[in-house]
Amino acid sequence: MIMKKIGIFIEFKDGEIKKANYGMITAARSSDNELYALILDGRGDAYKDKLQAYGVQKIINIVQEPGRLEWNPEVFSKAIIHTMSHFGINTLIGLTSAQGRDLLPRIASGLDAPLVMDCVGFNFTDHTVSKYQFSGKVLANIKLNGAHYILGVRPNILDAKEAPCKAEVISHQIPDYVERLKVKEIKQGESRGVDLTEAEIIISGGRPMKSTKNFDILYECAEVMGAAVGASRAAVDAGYVPHSMQVGQTGATVSPRLYIACGIQGAIQHFAGMKTSGLIAAVNIDPNAPIMKKCDYGIVGDLFEIVPMLTKQLREVLNRTNLK
Ligand SMILES: Cc1cc2nc3c(=O)[nH]c(=O)nc-3n(C[C@H](O)[C@H](O)[C@H](O)COP(=O)(O)OP(=O)(O)OC[C@H]3O[C@@H](n4cnc5c(N)ncnc54)[C@H](O)[C@@H]3O)c2cc1C
Repeated sequence: MIMKKIGIFIEFKDGEIKKANYGMITAARSSDNELYALILDGRGDAYKDKLQAYGVQKIINIVQEPGRLEWNPEVFSKAIIHTMSHFGINTLIGLTSAQGRDLLPRIASGLDAPLVMDCVGFNFTDHTVSKYQFSGKVLANIKLNGAHYILGVRPNILDAKEAPCKAEVISHQIPDYVERLKVKEIKQGESRGVDLTEAEIIISGGRPMKSTKNFDILYECAEVMGAAVGASRAAVDAGYVPHSMQVGQTGATVSPRLYIACGIQGAIQHFAGMKTSGLIAAVNIDPNAPIMKKCDYGIVGDLFEIVPMLTKQLREVLNRTNLK
């Protein structure tokens, strides 16, 4: 049997593999597939234990002399295309993250390959992928046709499960490309803390937050939980927080394990951006607010009382259990 070679573009944060990669690897695993982790930070060996624990058979350490590769979407896309061609990889998956959104379309364009971003499922046998469309009202199954396939996967949508194997680390040298695009500076976004689209827990505030300052109670709670802070469009339009924090149809699509909506009514446009969350909790003074019918846990109360209480309780529990 000829094994399909599946390339996985691995993303990092602070020198560690982002957790969302492991869900993608788990879903790509099958007895018909050979998984190739494509590493561009030059430290392929350092990730061997973690990647082989999830069933990656080949770790391709992509290097360029002299020195290590720094983030440049043009050079990264050429490096990946070169690597795919060298190893005969015809399917590439990566995260629909800020980096993935910049990189994967360039690779698809370079290969003249079909591209689907924000997939929530895929099948490499019949080359179909599933993704939500029309504000999440439709789950489309899309059949792809091409010599290559490039897929961006929604972060955190796929569960990670270990399946240990023995991985081989292979160094692959790429040519010294002439850069037409120069990355001069990488700036942290306006939002504080954890990246919204990749967060495992999100606590969001709506119009009743009333000011930028009041969002501090959400940041405090988020810090204790290791969460990101999001917002409804009403809070963004009122100027309390930047648009990069907006969740919904015209903002970010998120898929955390836990989403806590504070003072958010649950309009369809907001729901479109967070409906695939694992667990939804809501804090609202109105027991009949639409969000109360759509959430797993609803707390009827004033967010300015409930959120600080939640922060206090969480701190106490974490201190007691030494989990902090
Ligand atoms: C084309 C289009 C695109 C849109 N895209 C988006 C989008 O991407 N994201 C998005 O969010 N919206 C989007 N909207 C707007 C959306 O329709 C809603 O208007 C918006 O989500 C409402 O925000 P909200 O729930 O914060 O505010 P409100 O509608 O004002 O609701 C506030 C809620 O907070 C409750 N509340 C009030 N005070 C308190 C308190 N002290 N404690 C607890 N609860 C309290 C109220 O009972 C109410 O349920 C879009 C609209 C359109 C037309």
